[in-house]
Amino acid sequence: MCFLCDLKSPAPAGSPERPEHVWSARRAFVLAGAASAAAASLPAAAQVEVGQSSSLRKLVPAAELEGAAQQQYGQMMAEARKKKALAPDSDPQLQRLRRMANRLIPHTAPWNSRARGWQWEVNLIASDEVNAFCMPGGKIAFYTGILDKLKLDDDEAAMIMGHEMAHALREHARERLAKTQATGAGLSILSSLLGLGQLGDVAANLGTQLLSLKFSREDETEADLVGLELAARSAYKPQASVSLWEKMTAQNGKGGPAFLSTHPSGPNRIRELQANVPKVQALYEAARKG
Ligand SMILES: [Zn+2]
Repeated sequence: MCFLCDLKSPAPAGSPERPEHVWSARRAFVLAGAASAAAASLPAAAQVEVGQSSSLRKLVPAAELEGAAQQQYGQMMAEARKKKALAPDSDPQLQRLRRMANRLIPHTAPWNSRARGWQWEVNLIASDEVNAFCMPGGKIAFYTGILDKLKLDDDEAAMIMGHEMAHALREHARERLAKTQATGAGLSILSSLLGLGQLGDVAANLGTQLLSLKFSREDETEADLVGLELAARSAYKPQASVSLWEKMTAQNGKGGPAFLSTHPSGPNRIRELQANVPKVQALYEAARKG
């Protein structure tokens, strides 16, 4: 899938001092109720066309899920650090990714009002894996494999980051988990969310589920289009969405990278992006001048 992760802290991306996050399930649970009114939205000014989010997703409180993601992300980054695979703040590739995020983030809130309060974080993990993800709450990670093997330029890498951010903004993980629970597989988790169980377990369960989540084809199309618009508004070339997926297609058959198993590339995906490039071209031109 597009993966997920979590971050630590109240410090902004790029900050050298990120205090270790301390997970508090009970606090997150209380916040969940208070924040339930905020949600994914369709901005009036949106140029790409995507549908309304499913109201089913409200079965999983957004704050609870973001807290679980933060915990999971923190664990993943700690493990990477232990293996000396976590890029330091001084790493030029990581700095490049953080500059990208800083351009994209100001355009996220119209897609989800909760994003204003997210503590976005961007990390780079040394791994051959062709993968990247953004967990609920804005926790982003790229693997060096996706940058190196695909030889991505800034415009193309920004398309991936925008795509991953879009999954988080459109709350695709929340919706998938809610649907799982609605079919019975996660009823124990749901009951816990309602205050009937052990909240610490809930966070761990949600975090684990995030790692094995698969998005639907519709989710992927939405993420492509919303990501394309975010990137265009941030002055990244819309046509790069097409060249990116052409590069992905060329990777097919070369060992089946993880990203491709959850992101089928092919003529349909490329055609859809190509058809949407003209819709955001004016946004890109305006952003470049600005
Ligand atoms: Zn995706």
